[in-house]
Amino acid sequence: TTILEQGNISIHTENIFPIIKKWLYSDHEIFMRELISNAVDAIKKVSMVSRSGELQGDIGEPEILITIDKVKKTLSITDTGIGMTAEEVKKYITQVAFSSAEEFVDKYKAAGDEQIIGHFGLGFYSSFMVASQVEIDTLSYREGAQAVHWTCDGSTSFTISDSDRTTRGTTITLTLQEEEQEYLEDYRIRTLVKTYCDFMPFPIKLEVIEPPKPATEAPKADGEAEAEKADDASAEASDTADTSAETTTPEVEVAKPPEQINKQKALWKESPSSLTDEDYLEFYRYLYPYQEDPLLWVHLNTDYPFVVNGILYFPKLKPDVDVTKSSVKLFCNQVFVSDNCEEVIPRFLLPLRGVIDSSDIPLNVSRSFLQADRTVKQIGNYVAKKVGDRLKEQYRDDRQAYIKSWEDLGTFVKFGSMNDDKFKKQVEDILIFRTSLVEQSEAPKVEVETADGDVWTDKKSSNTVDGRTYTTLQEYLDRNKEQHENRVFYCTDEVTQATYVNLYKGRGIEVLFLDSFIDSHFATFLEQEYREVKFARVDADLDDSLIEKDKSEVIDPTTNKTFSDRIKDIFTGALSKPKLTIRTESIKSDDPASAPPAMVLLPEEQRR
Ligand code: ADP
Ligand code: MG
Repeated sequence: TTILEQGNISIHTENIFPIIKKWLYSDHEIFMRELISNAVDAIKKVSMVSRSGELQGDIGEPEILITIDKVKKTLSITDTGIGMTAEEVKKYITQVAFSSAEEFVDKYKAAGDEQIIGHFGLGFYSSFMVASQVEIDTLSYREGAQAVHWTCDGSTSFTISDSDRTTRGTTITLTLQEEEQEYLEDYRIRTLVKTYCDFMPFPIKLEVIEPPKPATEAPKADGEAEAEKADDASAEASDTADTSAETTTPEVEVAKPPEQINKQKALWKESPSSLTDEDYLEFYRYLYPYQEDPLLWVHLNTDYPFVVNGILYFPKLKPDVDVTKSSVKLFCNQVFVSDNCEEVIPRFLLPLRGVIDSSDIPLNVSRSFLQADRTVKQIGNYVAKKVGDRLKEQYRDDRQAYIKSWEDLGTFVKFGSMNDDKFKKQVEDILIFRTSLVEQSEAPKVEVETADGDVWTDKKSSNTVDGRTYTTLQEYLDRNKEQHENRVFYCTDEVTQATYVNLYKGRGIEVLFLDSFIDSHFATFLEQEYREVKFARVDADLDDSLIEKDKSEVIDPTTNKTFSDRIKDIFTGALSKPKLTIRTESIKSDDPASAPPAMVLLPEEQRR
């Protein structure tokens, strides 16, 4: 075929600009995240330039200052970052969708691997979602640079002029639109910073410039003034100071020192070996205040083939926990992205809590895209694998703690096994069941003194906690091979099936308890998984061949009776409980106290 014409697609800026402003982000408040991300990048960049040797001398303390000016009705964000020259402003700001990030990282990659947040070159324009005018006041780190002032009212034209700024860095000032005045409220800004920027690596401070109080204000009656003071939750030093001074010289505002409003320390970015249990617990309590402490946690930390950091906690599962809703927070380079990770982590891990941070999860893309993304899938698999590893480690190293938490952990493990084949294979050996077996000794403590004098206690040697013994399915099958090969007897309700359990126990047959809320599904799952094994519920499947053995007159050591006598006793006892039904023949006595006539257990097909 002949090519008729080739060309470039052109864009009408007049049309594209409103589209970017209105539709780029669904939420107006995102502008804050974008501007602070730029400030963080600018500070990271200046430290990279400094490390490269290009910038001599001290680069000063990093800081991001948010100023709410209630007089001018502006909101500004000032950083101590790299700044921009007029050329850079023209290049990076006025060219929409042009980011300096790639170029910069390429140039300075030798000076450390700071993670630059910027990428698409669009974030800055989100400020026009809330501002009628945006100004940039900036001074570059470059020797002899001239400070620049840029201003734009949201149309496609802008002005650049000289600025008299003398400190390195950038201030972005937004004149807020009439309907966006909420961003002049400091609680609103605090909440935004807490949500999106809490763990950004530099201090973010807040300063509020209040309008002077009118001088004519009549002094208040005592009671009224008191009430007002009580109302003001953030009662400042000026309030409690001499009130007479305040009323006589009302125009003079006592300057409040800017206050840091972000937490700054992202625990998940630290090396796991430098952290104590208390650090992890404290962080959990910070993220989820008023919640019970978690049972176990996993610190994710990998750089290859994708970058993932994070801490995932296993909470205690309260009955009111919605296990289908994600409570893991998703971050990208310490910038909060979303409160749910549903597209990123496997479904069965949704009840976990904590943080996942990955610069490899594409931001600003649709959910359906995330679900289809290969890297996102791999990240999900990685997380599942790490969770499995952590559980195995706990099983191996601290069996007692594992058993103690099993009621909650087990729900994850079972849910996971049913939902993810890979995970099932991984945790198969650490899936445990409570058993009727009584372990000889509970928690024998083995203490070993190591060369450096430490006493190491072997906590894994017992499978019994508080008189309850646990076993894996394989251990159960191995142990009972002789007596009933490939057969598992289980009980789903310890109270209503007590008679049956005792019957089995009395005969020396081990019964497993599958009695948690997830077990009714799980039992079915096990039957399908282990087709060679026959699962029999104690009350539904009295097994003939086992009953046959009953003729041997073995003495039950607990009662000193023969087993057949013991069974008789149990059945008699059972009959005195009106709700119990036992499928046997010819028990027709009206008087439950009298011994029943011969008990014949019917073969399966003749029962009922
Ligand atoms: P991105 O952050 O994805 O690169 P933005 O639209 O947010 O895109 O910003 C565009 C560019 O403007 C940045 O790459 C950076 O070069 C420059 N810039 C924005 N804010 C600042 C700032 N506070 N200090 C220095 N440069 C900045
Ligand atoms: Mg940006």
